[in-house]
This record gives sequence, structure tokens and C-alpha cells, in this order.
Amino acid sequence: MLARRPKESREGYSVVIATSLLLLVAMILGGIGAHVVGRMRSSANALDDNRATLAAEAAVSSFKEKLAATVRDNAVWDEAHAAITQGDREGWVYENWGKTSEDYALYDGIVLTAPEGGKSIAYLKAGMIDSVEYLGGKFPVQTEAAARPGIDPIVNFFRNGDDIIAVASEAVQPFGSQAQDPTYYVLSFFKTLTSEVVAQMAKEHQLPQLHITDRPAGDLLNSPLMDVYGLEVARLAWPSAAPGNTIFDEARPFIAAAVAILGIYLVGVLFAGLSETRRLKSLADRAQHEATHDSLSGLLNRLGLIEGLDRLMQVDKSQMLVLHLIDLDGFKAVNDAWGHAIGDQLIRLVAEALRDVNGDVLGVARLGGDEFALVQRGSADLAEFDNQVLERLKRPFLIEGRTIEIGASIGVACRDDAGNAHELLRRADMALYEAKEMGRGCAVTYHTDLDRQREKIAGLESDLRRALQNDEIQPVFQPLASAASGDITGVEALARWRRAEGAIGPDAFIPLAEKCGLIDILGLQMLRKSIAASRAWSPLSLSVNVSPIQLCNPNFAGDVLAVLKEDGFDPSRLTLEITEAVLMSNPEQARRSITALKSAGIRFALDDFGAGYASIGTLREFGFDRMKIDRSLVQAIDDGSTGRNVLTATISLAQALGIPVTAEGIESADQADVLRIAGCDQLQGYLVGKPMGRDELASWLASSIAA
Ligand code: C2E
Ligand code: CA
Ligand code: CA
Repeated sequence: MLARRPKESREGYSVVIATSLLLLVAMILGGIGAHVVGRMRSSANALDDNRATLAAEAAVSSFKEKLAATVRDNAVWDEAHAAITQGDREGWVYENWGKTSEDYALYDGIVLTAPEGGKSIAYLKAGMIDSVEYLGGKFPVQTEAAARPGIDPIVNFFRNGDDIIAVASEAVQPFGSQAQDPTYYVLSFFKTLTSEVVAQMAKEHQLPQLHITDRPAGDLLNSPLMDVYGLEVARLAWPSAAPGNTIFDEARPFIAAAVAILGIYLVGVLFAGLSETRRLKSLADRAQHEATHDSLSGLLNRLGLIEGLDRLMQVDKSQMLVLHLIDLDGFKAVNDAWGHAIGDQLIRLVAEALRDVNGDVLGVARLGGDEFALVQRGSADLAEFDNQVLERLKRPFLIEGRTIEIGASIGVACRDDAGNAHELLRRADMALYEAKEMGRGCAVTYHTDLDRQREKIAGLESDLRRALQNDEIQPVFQPLASAASGDITGVEALARWRRAEGAIGPDAFIPLAEKCGLIDILGLQMLRKSIAASRAWSPLSLSVNVSPIQLCNPNFAGDVLAVLKEDGFDPSRLTLEITEAVLMSNPEQARRSITALKSAGIRFALDDFGAGYASIGTLREFGFDRMKIDRSLVQAIDDGSTGRNVLTATISLAQALGIPVTAEGIESADQADVLRIAGCDQLQGYLVGKPMGRDELASWLASSIAA
């Protein structure tokens, strides 16, 4: 639910673009190819159609010319002119032309048109006919036009029923005669375009299937036959040879093969592109998953959590969200004791346990190390929910036959109206910090006071930094007395912060210095100042408190020895007091520091024994020279016999190990007596003397010696 949708990768896009481009180019090339083939085909067809049309026109004009030549041969003829104008016209016409028309190849019939309404003579296949009846009303128009000498024969087409008839007319005239007759006879020869005639034309001009038609079908080529008015009588029509189609048909298998190959290629490119896109997308998805998830637990990581939270918050601005930050207690100890393999398994089991927690859980994340986060919808009983989580994590985990017990601290933050994921995380983090401060194993919900506390601490931190720079931290000294003689044998240096705003004890500012990394500087300042002051009361011993954190600093031993050398201070006068040795985070480094300083003659005391976790084992392990019994144990003397027994047993144990014991916080003579009898060799407390400033101590020492 919190995991985000994978983003398309940039590479995915470029593959899509490259594939599309390739497909586009291939399609354009294919398109150009198809266009070229189509164009060649239609061009070849058009060229041939053009040729055929010219051939048809040539066929018609050659037919007309032949008829014209025949009529000219007969009309421009001295003998014919003489016979027609002067002799037996009808007999002559029949003898020379009418009879011939019966089976003559050049014409089917003749007409001799007399001038000015005279009687015409007409023969068709040697039979007499009426010319106008046969050729129609337009015929006289042609003969009238032809009734002049010295012009070319006039040839036009006429219609008789279904027959189309070509008629050539010329005035009958003497050859070369310039005689100006007022009137002329006109000779016309006519020939019907029979199917045989058309077939002959077709053969001569290579126009297969040439025929005559009134209205040619749409896909036929045609050429018109005109009448005397220039109007269309009929058409010659023939089908296109379409040689381009023939060529195309021949090339078709090759074109089909090429198209198929191109198609296969394009499909291949498409598939390759698709599978590459899919591959890149899955790579991008995996990279996205890796970037937002923790590889060990499979949960979201910090980035994934923040992205998921931001998205949830944007999607529904009023949605109630609760973030629980869970920090395991004691995980480091498991890692140290059993190794990282077991630690990893523990992390996996915890992840599983958190995934299975009941409640409206939207997502679980591992933020690193042993820190987890849980996003919950709504605001059901938070305390109940966190208890459930704490209880679950307190239950022992079984790993490779080992029973491992841990615990957890929880910081909770609820979504604020103005909040974003980072702010929500910061608040939960603050609450978690508080839960750890409160001693772990509990849940704390964020409230604004935490911010104020944090601000206060931050303010104190900068105050402390300034105090260290301005020498505001100074030692006071508390005397240590011999239990046997009561003589003052040494002093313990204790830090004091002289603050204008009011006192703040070392119990507060020492942990603060430890937390904010100032303890090394503070410790060395204290050492330097204590040593400088101690010169005045040589040869008393000097005890200085050292934080375990200082001890883990690899430079610590060197720094201490350098300070001693600077001041020429005898190392055997110095005792370093350390608390909580067992909690040292880096026991190896601590041991190295202790060994180095001990070999220089410096002694070590285990402080606050009986109050914390320090044990007799610690005493021996680190080679402590002295044990200091905590004030709480000393106070227990007054509470009754049990406290006293614990105290005497503890002292006996140290004595058995040959380790001398100092008792702290002695306020009464009774306490001093008990401790002296129990075996303490050194006493410290208000009874002996309170912590004092350098000068105060000097005069106190002077007066006590005098006394
Ligand atoms: P501590 O080392 O156990 O010091 C003894 C504390 O007991 C001192 O408190 C001292 O004033 C107090 N005390 C001594 N005798 C009596 C007594 O008879 N009655 C009562 N009620 N108290 C007595 P103080 O000075 O407040 O120091 C507190 C703790 O702060 C010290 O405990 C020590 O752990 C730490 N500390 C002080 N100075 C330094 C320092 O320079 N460095 C480090 N690392 N820690 C320091
Ligand atoms: Ca001390
Ligand atoms: Ca102490």
C-alpha cells in the first residue's frame, strides 16, 4: 500500500522511440515502393492507351482519306463531267458507278446530287435508292457544302438505323478546268462501317476488340465519329491493353515476396522492441524496488517509507495516519554475542512479526540497524496497539536452537494537518528518543513539550560549549581520609559549573557533555586544572573522575600522559575513577587505555560500586586498584541489619581479592565506625569534609593539620 508505482525508465522510452522510428522509416520506404510500382503500372497503361487512341484516330482518318481519294478520282474527271452535264446522265452513272457498287471494295453506294433541286440519282449495291431517305436530312447539308470546285472532298459520318455510314462528297468537275459553271453536280460515295470493315481497321492498327457503339462502357477507350455538324454520331471503342497490368502481374510474386519479407522484418523489429522495452521496464522496476526496499527484511527502507507517506498524505489530505517508530532493545548484544548471521535472522523474524501485527497497518519499514517503522491508518486505541507490539517483541525468538529475548521502545506520532512525511518522522523520532530516555521497553507519543525539552537541551548544549571556552567549569576538591588514622591522604576533584543563571550539578551536565561530544574536552580541562591545584598540597593523592566514553577514545591515554608531563606531576599520585565499567561500549579500547596508563604508574578506582551494573568480575577483568562503595550502600547501614550485611560481605569480597575499599558519602561517625570495622581503608563524605574550592581547601588543610 505504501509501495509506489514503478516509474517508466528513460531507456524504455528511447527503445520505444527507436522502434517506432524504424517502423516509420520502413513503412515510408514500403509506401514509396508501393507508390513507385503503382505509378509505373499506371504510366505504362496510360502510355499505351494514348498510343491506342492515336491509332484509332489514324484508322478513322485513313478510312476517310481512302473514301475521299476514291471520290476525287471519279469526280474530277473530264469524261464524267461531260457525260453528266451533257449526255445520258442516268445511263452513264449506272454504267460507271451504280453497277460497280454491287460488289466494289471501295464503296457500297453512290449518290449524284443534281444542283438546285434537280433529281438525284442514288445506288446502293447496284440497286436504286432515295439518298435522303437512306442517309437522312443532314446529307443535303454536306452536298451543298461540296458543290464548289477546287476544294477537298468532304467526308462525314451518317446514321441509318444501327448502321454508321461514311460519306465522301465532291463536286463533279473537269480535271484542271477553270470553267466557272454556275451550278455543280456533286458525287458522293458512301461505305457502311460493317463489322468486317471495323475488323479490318482493328487489324491494320492493332486495336483488338475494336467496335462501334453509341455509349461506350466506362472502362473502354473510345474515339468519336463526327457528322456534318461536328456532332458525334457514334464511337469507336476498344478495351485498354493495360500493359502495365501485365507487367505488374508478372512482377506480382516478387513484390508479394518482398512485402512478406518486409512484413516479417517489421514484425520482428516490433517484437524485439517490445521485448526490449519489457526487459528495461522490469530492470527499472527491480532498481526501483531495490532503491525503496530493505534487502534483508524485504520491508520498505527509509526512502520507500518517506515516499509512501508523502503519497498517502497527498492522496487524502484528511486521512488520519499514525507512525510508530520501533527501536529494538538489546539487539546489539545479540549481534555481539551470537554473530551477524543470527542478528540477521532476528531482524527477519522481527520483520515478520511486525507484518503480522493486527491493526489497520498500511506498511512496515526497516529504517536501518534495529529500527523499524509501522504506518497505521486511523487513530484506534494507540496505547493498546503499541502494547500489542511491545508484548509481541518481548516474546522469545527461537533461532537455531537458541532462545533470544529482546524488547523494544516505540515512538509514536500522529499526522498533523500541516505535516509532511519528514516532519512526521522527526516527531516520531523525538518520541522514540524520549521512550529510550525513560528506560526503554515503553511507548511514547509525541507532544509539543518534547520539542520544548529538546530546545532546552540544545540551549544547554551551547551554554556548555561556551562555558568550556570561558573556563566556567572548575574543580572543587573533597578530602579523602585514612580510616585507620583519620589523616587526610588525598582529594577527589569534582566538576562545578559556575553559571550566572543558577547552579546545575554534574549529574546533569556530565551526561549532557557525554551526549554532545564535549566530555573529552571537559575531562582534560578538569584533569589539567586539578593537577595544577594539587601542586599546592603535595604529596596528597589526587582522584579525578573519568567518563567511560573518554576511556574509549584511542587518544585518551596519550592525552593524560601528556598533561602529566607538561606539569611534571607524579603519575603515582593520580587515581582515575570510572563508573559503569560493564556498560563500556568498546571494552577492548577501554582495556588498552587502562593498561597503558597503569604501566605509567596511574591507578584506577571502580566508582559507585553497588549502585550500577559493575561487579566483582569487572574489578578483576580491568585490573582496578581500588573500589569505591556507593553512597546508597553506606546509607543502607542506617536501615538495618540486611543493608549492613550486604555492605560487609561486599567489602570482604574486595579484601579477599586484595583490593582496598573507599566508602563514599559518610555523614555520621556511626557510619564511619561500621565501615572501618568492616575493612574500609579510606573514608569520604561530609563527615570528613565537603567538596571545597582550591583556596578553601588549602586553608582547611592547614587548619586540620594544626588541629
Ligand atoms: P561521584 O564520583 O560518586 O562523586 C561523589 C558525589 O557525592 C559528589 O557529588 C559529592 O559532592 C557527593 N558527596 C560526597 N560526600 C557526600 C556526603 O556525605 N553526602 C552527600 N549527600 N553527598 C556526598 P557531585 O559533586 O554532585 O558529583 C556527582 C557525580 O558527577 C560524581 O559522582 C561523578 O560521577 C560525576 N562527576 C563529577 N565531576 C566529574 C568529572 O570531573 N568528570 C566526570 N566524568 N564525572 C564527574
Ligand atoms: Ca568519584
Ligand atoms: Ca561515587
